[in-house]
Amino acid sequence: MEIGSKGFKILKVEDTRQYEEINDRWKPIPGSGMEHDCHRCGKTHEVLYTVECLETKEIFVVGGSCAKAYGMSKKKVASLSNNIKKIKKLEREIEKCKAEYEVNKKAYDAILELTPPEPKHVDNTKHGSEIWVMGDAQVWCSTGFTEERKKCLLDSWRHNCLVKQGFKPYNLHSLPGTIRILEDRLEKIHNKIDELFNS
Ligand SMILES: [Zn+2]
Repeated sequence: MEIGSKGFKILKVEDTRQYEEINDRWKPIPGSGMEHDCHRCGKTHEVLYTVECLETKEIFVVGGSCAKAYGMSKKKVASLSNNIKKIKKLEREIEKCKAEYEVNKKAYDAILELTPPEPKHVDNTKHGSEIWVMGDAQVWCSTGFTEERKKCLLDSWRHNCLVKQGFKPYNLHSLPGTIRILEDRLEKIHNKIDELFNS
């Protein structure tokens, strides 16, 4: 293939490999991607660059080193590869968090359906606060068993149910925030890639 005098433009970069989590880090699984023979050198690649010849408008799919050989800046290709990998990792991480949240949410929703035991005033602290229990949950009430204390006791009982089923209630509260942060990060990387394509 001839390299046109106007050069090439990168249209798309795709990391077709699957990623797996090893020791809290996402790593590509070698050989898991969609293999493609490079239009330029014939080698097989799993990270694919779709490039357009600006002169003939022909479109080719090549590997990263061949994209560089087409006159694309090394920095740009490296930055694209880097960001495309980050996207893969982030997408897997978001998927994992969402699945984890769903499992926790489902368990909690089932607990919400349960009829809680009756709250009981069992004792007073030495400072005079009332001690109320619901099953294995307990609250201290310095100004009586108010609506706020009732809710706190019920929440605490549900929390304990979740723990007894082997869940971490912390996940239920923290995962939506974590997912939002990861999605923000993902969006920023997509924007960065768009900038790189248009630069
Ligand atoms: Zn090649």
